[in-house]
Amino acid sequence: MILRHNPVVRNAAFFLLAAALLSGCDSKKSEPQTPVSTADVVAKLAKADAVDGKVDKVVSKCAACDLGMDGSPSTVLKVHEYSLHFCSAGCKEGYEKDPDKAIMAMTIPN
Ligand SMILES: [Zn+2]
Repeated sequence: MILRHNPVVRNAAFFLLAAALLSGCDSKKSEPQTPVSTADVVAKLAKADAVDGKVDKVVSKCAACDLGMDGSPSTVLKVHEYSLHFCSAGCKEGYEKDPDKAIMAMTIPN
């Protein structure tokens, strides 16, 4: 009797449903249907490389933070000849799974 009318159980079910609906919406928006072209990724890497003022195939600012943070050589990921320095292991992990896709989603400041 207590369980059947327990408002916590009802609320939990509602939140799970809401979360499922929201995440379904999100993944539709962020998953592009066209495959990422390597040429586009390299072009973007070249732009990101220039952000630190040196064109040396080392992106020394954190790409995961949209290049707003200084990266560290101890958290480095090699992508298409470029060395990406991340500010933290967590930022690097986000890029490790699908670097091409993450790079295309990166915002480069002007
Ligand atoms: Zn970062």
